[in-house]
Amino acid sequence: MRLILNDKRVYLDNAATTPLDSEVLQAMLPYMTDVFGNPSSPHSFGAEAVAGVVAARERIAELTGCSANEIVFTSGGTEADNFAIRGVFEANRNVGKRMIVGATEHAAVLSACKALERTGAEVIYLTPETDGSISPSTLESALSDDTVLVSIMTANNEVGTISPIKELCNIAHARGALFHTDAVQAVGSVDINVSHTNVDLMSVSAHKFYGPKGVGFLYVKKGTRISPLILGGHQERGLRGGTTPTFLIAGLAEAYARALSTAESDVKRVSELCGDFVERVLKIDGATLNGAPLSAKNRTPYHANISFDGVRADALVMKLDLMGVAAAAGAACSSGSAEVSHVIKAMAGEDRARGAVRFSFGKYNTKGDVDFAVKAVKSAVEELRTAQGLLYLKSEITRA
Ligand code: PLP
Repeated sequence: MRLILNDKRVYLDNAATTPLDSEVLQAMLPYMTDVFGNPSSPHSFGAEAVAGVVAARERIAELTGCSANEIVFTSGGTEADNFAIRGVFEANRNVGKRMIVGATEHAAVLSACKALERTGAEVIYLTPETDGSISPSTLESALSDDTVLVSIMTANNEVGTISPIKELCNIAHARGALFHTDAVQAVGSVDINVSHTNVDLMSVSAHKFYGPKGVGFLYVKKGTRISPLILGGHQERGLRGGTTPTFLIAGLAEAYARALSTAESDVKRVSELCGDFVERVLKIDGATLNGAPLSAKNRTPYHANISFDGVRADALVMKLDLMGVAAAAGAACSSGSAEVSHVIKAMAGEDRARGAVRFSFGKYNTKGDVDFAVKAVKSAVEELRTAQGLLYLKSEITRA
């Protein structure tokens, strides 16, 4: 059922999820039909399935800069984050009880930390810079000799700000702490090769780069002590129980390879579209870009998070949806929540967070989409301001 008033729809929520590429679907189909065996079975049907999983694991490992047995398949980013946070704390209780994470991490990391606090962990939440990145000096001052794990995301899911992962990782290692990064939003636009960054653990999720939902992986550097999160089988070398979803893994490998091989051209095209959109939307009075400025190097090419003074983000997102533009507000992976974004709040305060909307571009967006969306945003903002009795005059706001 379609609930919109327009025939045209423009999808600007690629940070929430992306459509499945048809080539990825083709790579998955054999494992949904002919090659249906359980990879753990000892017969020929199992052996066929296992061959697909082995090939996918090797392909992913090579592209990640690690060995195949350092890749643990999961149900996606949320599970990979939980596994890293809870699994490392559990297995290293003898090392200490301090965990350090960014205050702007995804809810998967933050909720896992909250759960650990109830079992005695001491969690430090690092305040971001105004662009949303975590600075090396902030991390340095929070580290102690009993810090078990530092977890800082590569690229933030709401504003797209990139943190200096290699440097942060070196600082953590110098004090004997392990380092995890949530790279879910970074695949294809940031170098996440672990032989370059030297991280100990890294989370990735397929549906953010035109792969299937429900699959991802956690890279776990050889020798890292980690307890399984999901018990019940010997799969994934005993680190993750559950029947191996061969078709999802085949899709993940194909999507990952495609995302990395077309990264350069995709980044160029998407950043042009996104940049054009931002420049035009910022001409609206009282519109402010959240995160790193457009000219900065530490931002992804596809996030545009913009606050509109005097407008509530959830109302704007709903209005835009009726006009045919899909965007996101708040903690947007779980849209529908009316809470203000914890990310923008930590970076720029509650007022800015209340009016912050995330527009995220993808490789299937066009120049026509930008024109359509800019027009829709302008008129939606104007209508909401008028409806709220806030006929918006820049001079009045400046005076206030
Ligand atoms: N981490 C980040 C940064 C994300 O943007 C998301 C997206 O929702 C997740 C983790 C969760 O990933 P998944 O949807 O695969 O569980």
